[in-house]
Amino acid sequence: MKRTRNVKVVATLGPASDTHETISALFHAGADVFRLNMSHGSHDEIRIKHQIIRQIEEETGSTIGILADLQGPKLRVGVFSGDSELLVEGASFRLDLDEAEGNARRVCLPHPEIFQALEPGASLLVNDGKIRLKVKECGPDFAECEVMIGGVISNRKGVNVPDVVLPLAALSEKDRADLEFVCELGVDWLALSFVQRPEDVTEARELAKGRAALLSKIEKPSAVDRFEDILAVSDGIMVARGDLGVELPVQNVPPIQKRLVRKCRAAAKPVIVATQMLESMIESPIPTRAEVSDVATAIYEGADAVMLSAESAAGAYPVEAVRTMDNVATEVEQDPTYTQIIESSRKVDRMTVADGIVAAAREIAETANIKAICCFTQSGTTALLTARERPRVPIIALTPLVKTARRLALTWGVNCVQTGTLERFKMAVVSAARVARDEGYAGPEDMIVVTAGVPFNVEGSTNILRVAPCDERLIFNTDPE
Ligand code: PGA
Ligand code: MN
Repeated sequence: MKRTRNVKVVATLGPASDTHETISALFHAGADVFRLNMSHGSHDEIRIKHQIIRQIEEETGSTIGILADLQGPKLRVGVFSGDSELLVEGASFRLDLDEAEGNARRVCLPHPEIFQALEPGASLLVNDGKIRLKVKECGPDFAECEVMIGGVISNRKGVNVPDVVLPLAALSEKDRADLEFVCELGVDWLALSFVQRPEDVTEARELAKGRAALLSKIEKPSAVDRFEDILAVSDGIMVARGDLGVELPVQNVPPIQKRLVRKCRAAAKPVIVATQMLESMIESPIPTRAEVSDVATAIYEGADAVMLSAESAAGAYPVEAVRTMDNVATEVEQDPTYTQIIESSRKVDRMTVADGIVAAAREIAETANIKAICCFTQSGTTALLTARERPRVPIIALTPLVKTARRLALTWGVNCVQTGTLERFKMAVVSAARVARDEGYAGPEDMIVVTAGVPFNVEGSTNILRVAPCDERLIFNTDPE
C-alpha cells in the first residue's frame, strides 16, 4: 500500500489488537511495522499474530515488517489472581520467588539474582517508575518492602533497580528460546532489550545466524555510554525512553534522544523513537497537545520511525492512535521548516562509489522534477544510503528478496517492492518505470532516476545511475545499449 509520508509507524500488538480485523485496521490506518512483545503472550499467541500479519501482507500485496522484541534481562513481576492490585502508600508489599498468583500483599519476582544483590534501603521502581517500593528487609528469596509511592500494579509489570548493579547476562534462557522460536517463524527484526555492551549484540547475532536484523534498545546508562560501539554492531536502534527515563533522570532523555537519532542517521541505520508517545490515548480517543508535539519533535529530529506500545497493544483506541501518528507525520512532513531542518542536518562522510551515487541521485531528482528514485538493492544497503540523503522525492526500493523488503519497512521514506531476479540493466529500468507508474508515483510522461549495481545479485556493488522516462517505448528508444 502506498503511503504519502516518509516516517514509519511501529505498532505493538497485544490483547487490544490480536484479531485479523484490528490488525488489518491498524495496517490501513498507517502501521508499517508490527512489534511482537515477547514479554507478553505465549508462543502460540505470537504464532497466530505472525500468521495474521503475513496474511494481511498477501491480501494487500504490501510488505510489512515484523519486529520481535526480546524481553532481555528485564525484571518483571509475576501475575496477580485478579490481574491487578492497588498498592497504597505506607502499606507493606512483599516480593518473593513463590510462583503462586499475587495479591495485595505479595507477588512473585522470578529473579533469584535480584534478591542476592538487594540491600535494605534500595529502591524498586515498578511500572515505568510509577510505583516506588523501598526494601525494608530481604533474604535470598524475598524482599519485604514499604510502598513509598502507590498505584496500580498489574501482571508482568517491569521492575527497575537503579541503585544496585545486577549481574545479569544479555540473553536469558527465555530469550534464547524466544529468539530461536521467532527466527524459525520468520521475523524481520529482533529487538534486544537492556543492551549494555556491544558483545550483547554480537552474542545475539551468532544465534540469529542472519535470519533477522538486530535492533538494540537503548535503555541503560551503560548503553548510552557505549553507544558508538553498540551502533557499530547493530542494524538499527530504539530509543527506549520508558526504561531509559527510569534508569536515568527523565530530563536526560530528550538530549540523549536527539544525539542518538543524529548518529543513527549518519550511520544510515534506522532509529525508532519509542514509549509513551501517545500515552493518554490508552484511555482517550484524543491525545494531549504535548503528546502530539512529542511525536512531531521525533519526526523533526529525523527519526526513521515512531512507535506505539500500550496505546496499540492494550489501549481502548489502537486504531485512532495509529491514525494520530499518521496525521502528525503527514502534517510535519508538509512543513517547509521540516525540510529545512532535515536538509541542514544532512551530514555524511562520503567515502564509497555508492555514497556518491545516492547523493547524485538525490541531487538530480531534486533539480529536474523527477518523480522517484528507484534503487535496486540486494542487502538493502543502497536503499539505506538513499534514505540517509533524505531526498524530497519518494524512494522506491526494488529487491528480489522479500527479507530485504520487509526489513526496509522500518527505514525512513523507503517504499519497497519485490521484483523477480534481473539479469540486464535495461530490464531493470523497464521494471522500475512500471512499478513507479503502477504504484502511482509517476505517469507515463514523467522521469525517474534508477540506481543499481551491475552485475546484479552481488551485494554492495552500486555503480550505475540512469535518468529514465517512465514510458516503456521511450526507454527502448533512448537506451544506449
Ligand atoms: P519496553 O521497551 O516497552 O519493552 O519496556 C521500551 C522502553 O523501555 O521504552
Ligand atoms: Mn524497556
